[in-house]
Amino acid sequence: MTSYDVVIIGAGNAALTSALAARENGASVLILEKAPEHEKGGNSYFTAGGFRFCYDNVEDVATDVLTDLSPAERDQIVLPKHDRQVFYDALMKVTKHQANEEMAWRLIDNSRPTMVWLRNHGIRFIPMFGRQSFMVDGKHHFYGGVNIEAVGGGSGLVEAEIRRALQIGCEIRYDTAATRLIQDKNKKITGLEISSPDGIETINARSIVLACGGFESNPEMRARYLGPGWDLARVRGTKHNMGDGIKMAIDIGARAYGNWSGCHSVGWDISAPEYGDYEVLDNFQKHSYPWGIMVNTDGNRFVDEGEDLRNHTYVKFGREIMKQPNRTAIQIFDQKTIPLLRDEYRIRQVTKVSGNTIAELAQELEINVSALTKTIDEFNAACKPGNFNPSILDGVATTGLNPNKTNWALPVDEPPFEAFITTTGVTFTFGGLKVDEKGSVLDNNNRSISGLFAAGELVGGLFYENYPGGSGLMAGAVYGKIAGENAASHAIGNSKDTSH
Ligand SMILES: Cc1cc2nc3c(=O)[nH]c(=O)nc-3n(C[C@H](O)[C@H](O)[C@H](O)COP(=O)(O)OP(=O)(O)OC[C@H]3O[C@@H](n4cnc5c(N)ncnc54)[C@H](O)[C@@H]3O)c2cc1C
Repeated sequence: MTSYDVVIIGAGNAALTSALAARENGASVLILEKAPEHEKGGNSYFTAGGFRFCYDNVEDVATDVLTDLSPAERDQIVLPKHDRQVFYDALMKVTKHQANEEMAWRLIDNSRPTMVWLRNHGIRFIPMFGRQSFMVDGKHHFYGGVNIEAVGGGSGLVEAEIRRALQIGCEIRYDTAATRLIQDKNKKITGLEISSPDGIETINARSIVLACGGFESNPEMRARYLGPGWDLARVRGTKHNMGDGIKMAIDIGARAYGNWSGCHSVGWDISAPEYGDYEVLDNFQKHSYPWGIMVNTDGNRFVDEGEDLRNHTYVKFGREIMKQPNRTAIQIFDQKTIPLLRDEYRIRQVTKVSGNTIAELAQELEINVSALTKTIDEFNAACKPGNFNPSILDGVATTGLNPNKTNWALPVDEPPFEAFITTTGVTFTFGGLKVDEKGSVLDNNNRSISGLFAAGELVGGLFYENYPGGSGLMAGAVYGKIAGENAASHAIGNSKDTSH
C-alpha cells in the first residue's frame, strides 16, 4: 500500500498545474496517467497552446508573461486591450449568458496571476504570430483575444509542465488508470483503486484531484449525452478521455453540472483519423472559413461565415456541420483570399479539390453543379463594395441572402478556386462536475466531498453551447492551481485559506 498527500488523476494541463500547486504548497504528489508515456499530455498536448487572459497591451504583458520579447519585437506588435470586461463579454456573448457568473469571474480574475505563476515555473510564452495576427502597415495586428501561446504549442507546454513537476518532486506513473474512489464511513476520501498492466492496486491519499478530462473520446457517452450521430464524429485529441473522472465522482454522489448535451467541436478535415494524430496535431482543423464561403453537399450555404471573429464562431459551427447532409461542410475560396489561409490548409494531409470554374469545382466535389453555381452566383451578386480587413469586423456584408455573410463578404470570382472538405471534430465536452471556490467537488446536496477536488474539462459550468478560443487551457490552469493548492492544504492540515 502506498500513501501520498495528494494524488492527481490525469497528466494534461489541468492535472499538471494542480500538481505544481500542490507540491509547492508542501504536499507529496503522485500523478496518475492512464495513457502510456508516448501518448502523454491528453488533449492539452494537441493544442496550439493558446491562452486567453487579461492584459492592457504589449508593454503591459511584456512585464511578466512575454518576458522574452525584445523592445524591437514589441515595436512590431499591436495587441488590443483584453481586460477583464473584454474577457467577460466574450465569454458571456458566446455562452448566451449561461456561464456561471462566479466561476467566470474566478477564471477571469485569476487568469493573469496564473499566467505569471506559470512563467515563474519556467513555462515560456510568445505571441501567436501565425494564426492570430495580420500585417497591417508593417505591424502585426493581433485580434480575437487568443494572442499568446506557450513555446512549442501544446506539446511544448506539456513537456515543460512535466519537466517542472518532476524537478520539484512530483512522481508520475504512466499506463495507470484511476478506477474507483475510496471513502471512509464519514464519506471522507481516503484513497483510490488503480489499474495498470501490473494489475489492480489501492493507493492511500488524503486528497485527490480529478483532472482526467471529459467524455469526448467515448462514443457511447457522446451518443447518450450529445445526441444521435455524435458517436460518429471524429475526435480531435486523445483517445483516453472516456469520462472516467466524471463517472467515478458521480458514483460516490457528486453532482452533475453544466451543459451535458454540449461540446466544443469544429470543422475538421474529413479524412482525419478517428482520434488525434500526434504528428498532425490540430492541423486537421480548417479555421479560415471567414475568408470564403461554406456549403453543404447540396451546394447550399448554411451559416453566416462572417458572423464574428473565428474565435467566437468556430466552436458553434462544429455543431452546425453535424446537422448537414453527410455531416459534411465544404469551404470554398478564390485567389483573393487563398493567400490569407492559415498554415493548416497547406499540410500534406489535406482533403482539397481545385477548379478553374465553379462547375469544374462542383464536378470534382461530386456535388450538384447547378446548385453550387446558383449559390455562388447569388452570393456574388449580393456582395457590396467595402474595405475588406481581416483583422477587424469590417462590416463588408452581403444583402438579401438567407443567411447573409455579415463581415468579410468578397465575391468568390477569381479562379482557380479551391475547396476544402470538412466534417465535425469533437474537442471536449462541456458537462461535468460542480466545484466550489476551492475546487472542491460538490455532492447532490451542494456539500463538498471531503478530500475530492477537480479541475479542467471535467468541471461543468463555464462553457455552454459555445466557447471563446483559448479558454480551455486558461480554465484548466486557473482551476488546476486552485484545486492543487486546496488539495495540499486539506491533506497536510495547512490552515492557509487559498480560496480565490
Ligand atoms: C486539437 C485541439 C486543439 C486545442 N487548442 C486549444 C488551444 O489552443 N487553447 C485552449 O485553451 N484550448 C485548446 N484546446 C482545448 C484544450 O485541449 C482543453 O481545454 C484542455 O487541454 C483540457 O485540459 P485537461 O487537463 O482538462 O484535459 P487533458 O489535457 O485531456 O488531460 C486529461 C488526462 O487525463 C488522462 N486520463 C483520462 N482518464 C484517466 C484515468 N481514469 N486515470 C488516469 N488518467 C486518466 C488522459 O489520458 C489525459 O492525459 C484544444 C483541444 C484540442 C483537442
